Amino acid sequence: MSSNVIVPDETKESFGQLRRMTQRIPGTIFQLYRSPCGGMRFPYLAGEFSLMRGAERRRLRLDARHVLDRIDTEDFPRVMTAIERSAKSGHTLSIQFRLLDADGETRWMAARAQPEAMKKGTLWHGLMLDISEQVAYQAHLQALSDTDELTGLANRRKFMTRLDEEIARSNRHATPLSLVLLDLDHFKRINDTWGHLQGDQVLAELAALSLDSLREDDVIARLGGEEFALLLPLTPLVCCEPLAERLRRLIAEHDFRLPQGRVTVSVGIAEHRVGESRETLIERADQSLYAAKRNGRNRVESVT
Ligand code: GH3
Ligand code: MG
Ligand code: MG
Repeated sequence: MSSNVIVPDETKESFGQLRRMTQRIPGTIFQLYRSPCGGMRFPYLAGEFSLMRGAERRRLRLDARHVLDRIDTEDFPRVMTAIERSAKSGHTLSIQFRLLDADGETRWMAARAQPEAMKKGTLWHGLMLDISEQVAYQAHLQALSDTDELTGLANRRKFMTRLDEEIARSNRHATPLSLVLLDLDHFKRINDTWGHLQGDQVLAELAALSLDSLREDDVIARLGGEEFALLLPLTPLVCCEPLAERLRRLIAEHDFRLPQGRVTVSVGIAEHRVGESRETLIERADQSLYAAKRNGRNRVESVT
């Protein structure tokens, strides 16, 4: 402001307030300008600058690339598409993306900005917040809702989602996929004889034992009660059978530290047929399990 302009006190005061506020708000307010050729810069930036150090902030006034370069490569195309769409439609730009901060740590950011069509190019007026804590909390909630509390394995809900994904993949690429259902034998007796807490202990130990014997891509879940399921991607029935048999034996030979008696499981297996629905696949594995129970328990069966 040039010195010969008389600025009323009120204006001075509100200008001062505005400066104080923009320096202290826990976020960033910005203007982003995009030229018709696509070059971008931040004509105005104020607020929290843990993400950009002073010198960089000044460079951003001339060239936005200093910050765009630090957007996670997985998120970058999505951010650019959203900017393009907002410029074309005139709708609010609303994006979430990962950004490397000045210390090299990945932060989750949320930006919302209103575009204004200029004679040449577009100018957005917006704000940006660090939402890393909220994203971490959401991930924590998601993990809780996917996890069986007693065993720490995936729960039924998570398993069904994974099963749908793997069936879709198997249908798309005609790759093998096997489903294994596992049910403890006479578990009611274990509970009745040694108590429910001891029963819980057996379930948790069986989960840990099974988990140890699987490959990273395999999915294991507790479907409920004393029933477990394994999903083996890229595994045909001929390979699933010995694997299920090995697991059955491992459990039967394991010392669950019960005062007396052993823990055994009956196992039913089925291989997905291209085009087959989730329900039909589960039904076939269930029939196999039923056959294992009928034929004496502590065994693996596959009915075709
Ligand atoms: P089968 O060999 O035919 O499978 O006999 P089973 O006794 O295992 O089968 P049944 O379905 O009759 O009984 C299952 C038992 O599992 C009944 C229930 O007390 C027990 N159970 C289910 N969920 C839990 C749990 O979370 N903890 C404990 N300790 N027991 C459970
Ligand atoms: Mg059962
Ligand atoms: Mg049972």
